[in-house]
Amino acid sequence: MFVEPKVEKGWIEVICGSMFSGKTEELIRRIRRSKIANQNVVIFKPAIDVRYDEQKVVSHNANAVESIPVKHSNEILHLVGNADVVGIDEAQFFDSDLSSVCNQLAENKVRVIIAGLDMDFKGNPFGPMPALLSMAEYVTKVHAICMQCGDIASYTFKKVNNDQTVELGERDLYEARCRTCFNEGMAIIRQQLKMDL
Ligand code: ZN
Repeated sequence: MFVEPKVEKGWIEVICGSMFSGKTEELIRRIRRSKIANQNVVIFKPAIDVRYDEQKVVSHNANAVESIPVKHSNEILHLVGNADVVGIDEAQFFDSDLSSVCNQLAENKVRVIIAGLDMDFKGNPFGPMPALLSMAEYVTKVHAICMQCGDIASYTFKKVNNDQTVELGERDLYEARCRTCFNEGMAIIRQQLKMDL
């Protein structure tokens, strides 16, 4: 489990993994600990993610923390105020400027905690996540359980057959899968697409 270093410096932490892997729960756990330490905390999320609640970072177990929805990552620099800790949820939906925004925050002695999907439903690196992962001082990859075989899962499989990379949904649309079950599912979808042509 991640234990925060106690130094007066900025740095970047990334929590990544598939859907249903507990990324947001881990983000909330770290945020709660910062609040106990009396640090000023601000949480941002992309304005696109409106699944449960406009103003809150809500994990799947409804462990809510207040957050500010923003349209572009540059807005974070204007809204950060005197925060000691900045949390960013659903980071994969942000624009490519997010990595330079996070670098600026860290250089201003802010602790930046980012949670996001590392891969999209095709198994490709997702949005600004690869850049953030390479720049972070600390990376935590959390795993879900494969909903097919019960093994450790790091892929997000989309059960519905279309090409939209950004489609908000939950268990109706997506499931966590291991590499083997993900590849099996993708092969079936490719077959179905061929038959549709
Ligand atoms: Zn599996």
